Amino acid sequence: MSAAGRAACVIGWPVAHSRSPLIHNYWLRHYGIAGDYRREAVKPEDFAAFVRTLSARGYVGANVTVPHKEAALALSEPDERARAVGAANTLWLDDDVLRSTNTDVEGFLRNLDACAPQWDRRADEVVVLGAGGAARAVIFGLIERGVARLVVVNRTPERAELLRRQFGPRVEVAPWDALSRALADAMLLVNTTTLGMHGQPPLDIDLGPLPDRAIVADLVYAPVRTKLLAAATARGLRTADGLGMLLHQAVRGFALWFGTTPEVTGELRALVEADLDPAAAKPVP
Ligand code: NAP
Repeated sequence: MSAAGRAACVIGWPVAHSRSPLIHNYWLRHYGIAGDYRREAVKPEDFAAFVRTLSARGYVGANVTVPHKEAALALSEPDERARAVGAANTLWLDDDVLRSTNTDVEGFLRNLDACAPQWDRRADEVVVLGAGGAARAVIFGLIERGVARLVVVNRTPERAELLRRQFGPRVEVAPWDALSRALADAMLLVNTTTLGMHGQPPLDIDLGPLPDRAIVADLVYAPVRTKLLAAATARGLRTADGLGMLLHQAVRGFALWFGTTPEVTGELRALVEADLDPAAAKPVP
């Protein structure tokens, strides 16, 4: 089948909040591909039947969002990344086989590469806040890129401990009250918690102990300019935001479904930022 006429979708419950249609339909227009990308609101009890009939519904693949990512993993042939993260967010049909991956790993790494080139030349120590699904994607990616030591700090220490067991001796667990000490040696701080998101409590930490060469990454993208990133910028540190990760993680799905590897452009970023943060965004060119 040519790329024209192909369709993909994002499956969630609810799904109205997903920015994936904005991103993929922008690329379809930009590359002049006569495909389509839709939202599909599917209840948890209907998810298995839905993905088993993806092809009959006219889809070559799909993104999967809350609450279906673990079910998507179980119902497909996952790659190493999806297995390590324990969740799949991208599905595609390879002949009749439904395959899956987790593109948060490459989304995080590519955004970091774009925002802080050569960050991994001295990737000795990283502090990761949080121990949920996003933290697993970040830790898997950082280990793949050679980071020597990862200190995981989480409200619930048992969840951080699970990550230490899963990812091995490069991962250490530290309590919140040891954060200052951990930051003093960190070349990268990554927030993978929901703190700082619209509707969630703020993330109040003192970036003072971070070395001057440190980078601060926040996975939160609503708002785009989080207090954490503002504090890092005020300290003169390099930053990588959650919107950049969101855009970079979408690249692989589009390439798999429509056969063109799309570019993350300033124009796309401005479009999605205007949708996420209408008051703060610059006008779309
Ligand atoms: P998750 O599995 O539910 O994990 C949530 C994490 O936040 C846990 O570590 C949790 O700690 C912590 N947390 C929640 N409320 C807290 C509080 N009041 N105080 C301290 N810690 C708290 O969620 P997730 O899927 O990992 O997603 C986490 C964030 O990453 C979300 O904001 C999501 O939007 C973002 N994300 C962004 C991208 C992107 O492309 N930019 C991709 C994936 C995820 P406990 O373990 O103690 O509960």
